[in-house]
Amino acid sequence: MFNLVIFGPPGAGKGTQSAKIIEKYNLAHISTGDMFRMHITQETELGKKVKELLAEGILVPDSITINMLEEEVNANPDVSGFIFDGFPRTVAQAEALDEFLKTKNEKIDLVLQLDVNEDEIKKRIAERQKVSGRADDDASKLIKRIDEYFQKTVHVLPYYQEQGKLVKIEGIGEIETIFSNITAEIDQYI
Ligand code: AMP
Repeated sequence: MFNLVIFGPPGAGKGTQSAKIIEKYNLAHISTGDMFRMHITQETELGKKVKELLAEGILVPDSITINMLEEEVNANPDVSGFIFDGFPRTVAQAEALDEFLKTKNEKIDLVLQLDVNEDEIKKRIAERQKVSGRADDDASKLIKRIDEYFQKTVHVLPYYQEQGKLVKIEGIGEIETIFSNITAEIDQYI
């Protein structure tokens, strides 16, 4: 198995690159954000619990998030590996993921950080707003999620750096160039 974590602020191109990685390497994609949104759409109990938090761009409590993730991993026993997207977002989640994978004799192999600085991300959003001609509510929520990333989620990076698993990928540039830098890293494992 090959297990990858992809990191990066909202708007860094994580979704785009994840889709390309999945296609090339046949990994199962687990995006906790997508899973929460699915629960909200389907109006499940979990969906009702997390709806407000997502609307505000606030992190869902670790225990809820970890449980949901573990269930999803358990539901996919025959895959060749996972790409974790949007998880872990806290050190507690990273530790829980390691513990959980250990029970399956598995581990995180590689953590890719799509590196785009805060100013660049906010500039992209401002440009998008200019094009659409409105300073809408979605944009302010997006800014909130970006702040959450730079204030909280980045603290997970040293956890993986200490384990020697963290690789930084320049996140500004052509999609294909970024992807080829990503595959150069993954190909060292697969
Ligand atoms: P995303 O699509 O990954 O940006 O996630 C959207 C929203 O889902 C986040 O703003 C959080 O409210 C929630 N969320 C997703 N993943 C996590 C996580 N690992 N821990 C806590 N909350 C999360």
